[in-house]
Amino acid sequence: MSELVFFTGTMDCGKSTLAAQVNHTHKSAGRSGLVFTRNDRAGSGILSSRLGLEVQAIEVTNETNFFDLCLEQLQTDEGLDYLVCDETQFYTREHINQLAHVVDDLDIDVFAFGIASDFRTDLFPGSSRLFELADRIQILQVEALCWCGRKATHNARTVNGRMITEGDQVLPGDTGENPAEVIGYEVLCRRHHMAGMTINHPEN
Ligand SMILES: [Zn+2]
Repeated sequence: MSELVFFTGTMDCGKSTLAAQVNHTHKSAGRSGLVFTRNDRAGSGILSSRLGLEVQAIEVTNETNFFDLCLEQLQTDEGLDYLVCDETQFYTREHINQLAHVVDDLDIDVFAFGIASDFRTDLFPGSSRLFELADRIQILQVEALCWCGRKATHNARTVNGRMITEGDQVLPGDTGENPAEVIGYEVLCRRHHMAGMTINHPEN
């Protein structure tokens, strides 16, 4: 019985590390898989984790059709048993629909990894579709802490260290890491996210 599983948490929860590990575990068991990512901070076609682990991956674009790709792969000698999909917050709702068909119609396991909500606390479209369709949702143990010491449960976008709450959900070239030293990201507890208090500007 194949499954669509959604592993989710905040930005620093270690989900890419887990994605690499899940891939390794299944590969070691002799299963055949494909790894996908989108806008990984390490660059196109690479799944990277904060621990420095890197895995070769297929870069997802708006034109990607998971169902067709899987059908093709099924016809090769290697076959296909599972997909590891990282950064699924950047996938479209249509991508997630395709992944559900991959599970149901092709009997392939799909392990999806993504951040649930953006810096405004709104769900990403890909993530909200995964909440709607997944067979199983696993909330990752929060490892990151807010500057106050509470568990960091919310993503904040900062400009020069000050939290902002308006702007596009995804910035061009925005890979979760600071592109221009001006815009950055920080994980906060809900209390300090609501109050807009960051590590450099706790006075807000
Ligand atoms: Zn806090």
